[in-house]
Amino acid sequence: MSAGQGHHFLQIPGPSPVPDRVLRAIASPVIDHRGPEFGRLGREVLDGCQKVFKTAKPVIIYPSSGTGAWEAAIVNTLSPGDKVLMAETGHFSMMWQQMAARWGIAVDLIASDWRRGADPAAIEAKLAEDRAHQIKAVMVVHNETSTGVTSRIAEIRKAIDRAGHPALLLVDTISSLGSVDYRHDEWGVDVTVACSQKGLMLPPGLGFTAISDKARAAAKTNKMPRSYWDWEEMLKPNANGFFPYTPSTNLLYGLREAIAILLEEGLDAVFARHQRLAAATRAAVRAWGLEIFCLEPVEYSPVLTAVLMPDGHNADRFRDIVLENYNMSLGAGLSKVAGKLFRIGHLGECNELTLMGALSGVEMGLGLAGVPHKTGGVIAARDHLTKSSNETRAPELIPAE
Ligand SMILES: *Cc1c(COP(=O)(O)O)cnc(C)c1O
Repeated sequence: MSAGQGHHFLQIPGPSPVPDRVLRAIASPVIDHRGPEFGRLGREVLDGCQKVFKTAKPVIIYPSSGTGAWEAAIVNTLSPGDKVLMAETGHFSMMWQQMAARWGIAVDLIASDWRRGADPAAIEAKLAEDRAHQIKAVMVVHNETSTGVTSRIAEIRKAIDRAGHPALLLVDTISSLGSVDYRHDEWGVDVTVACSQKGLMLPPGLGFTAISDKARAAAKTNKMPRSYWDWEEMLKPNANGFFPYTPSTNLLYGLREAIAILLEEGLDAVFARHQRLAAATRAAVRAWGLEIFCLEPVEYSPVLTAVLMPDGHNADRFRDIVLENYNMSLGAGLSKVAGKLFRIGHLGECNELTLMGALSGVEMGLGLAGVPHKTGGVIAARDHLTKSSNETRAPELIPAE
C-alpha cells in the first residue's frame, strides 16, 4: 500500500487539481473590499475573464458554485411560465432542467441516451415548428461532465439562425471553459455559465455568467423575482471593480493567477493540450478493449473520458480499489449510469506525465479488480503522446485515431 505517500492523483473532472502558483496567490492577506487595491484587483479579474470567455461584454462573478450561476442565468432572463428548449445530454443537463422547472419554466426536452451531444438539427426542427416564438431560450450544456460528450455550440447557433428564431442561447460551460475552444461573442451566446473548479484550475467557490446585450435587455423586462443574482445590481459597482456584497477576495487572487497561467500558455495551446491528452486516453481505453461511452467521435470530450465497465463489473468497486491502492480519485458514474462507468479527468493542471501516471493507475487497478481487459493501454497512450508532441505547432501531424 502506497496510498499515504506522494501526491494524491485527483483525476476527477472537477474539482481539478489547483496549480501551486494559484494556491500561493490565494494564501495572501484579505484586503478591504471597498478600498482602492481591491478595485484594481476587481477590474483586473473582470477584464481577464473577458479574454477567457472571448467577449467584449460583461462577465459577472458570484461567490457561488456553478449551480448558483445556473440559477442566475434563469432568473435574470426568463419569466414564470416561459417555455424553453433543452437538450438532454446527461446528468448535468437534467439537473439544470429540474432547476428551470422549479422556477416555473416549461421545459421542452429533446431526449437522448446520454451517449451523444445536443443535436443541432433537432433543435432547428423544434424552433422551426414554433412559429409563434413561444420558446424563449435554448439551453445546452457544452461539455457534459457526466458522460464525456461535448456539444457543438457553433453549429447550434447556426441552427437557431437558420430557423430565424429569436430565442436566447444559454450555455453551461462549467467544465469546458479554459479547456475547450469557446467563443461567447463569435458564437452569439447570450448567457455563458461557468464556475471556478474545473478548467479554470481554482478551488470551488466562484460562479460566472457572461451576458450579451440581448440577455441584458431581457433582464430589464423579465418577471422573475431575484436579489442576490441580479445582474444590474452587480454591474453598477463592477464598473469600478467593486461588488455589491463581500466578494470571495482570496479566490479572486487565485483567479488573477489562473487567468495569467492560461494566457501565458496561450488559449489555443491550452485547447490543443487537452485534445492531445484526451486522444492519448482514448488510445489507452481502446487498447484495454474497453468501450468509450461517447458514441460520436466529433463529440469526444477534451476534458474527460467516460469508460463503460464490462457487464457484471461495478465501476464504483473498481474506483474504490484504485483509491485504496494507488491514491487516485476517478470520477463516478452519476444517477442513471451509476456503477456502470468511470470517468478519467484530464483537464486543467494536467500534462503528459500526469496523464501517464493516471493511466498506469487505471491499468493496474483493472488488473487488481479482476476486470477483463488487455494490457498495453499505457503503452498505446505513450505512443500517441510521443507521436503527437509537435501537434501544437503542426496540427496536420496529429496521428489518426
Ligand atoms: C460541475 C458541473 C455543474 C455543477 O457545478 P457545481 O459547482 O457543483 O454547482 C454543472 N454543470 C456541469 C456541466 C458541471 O460539470
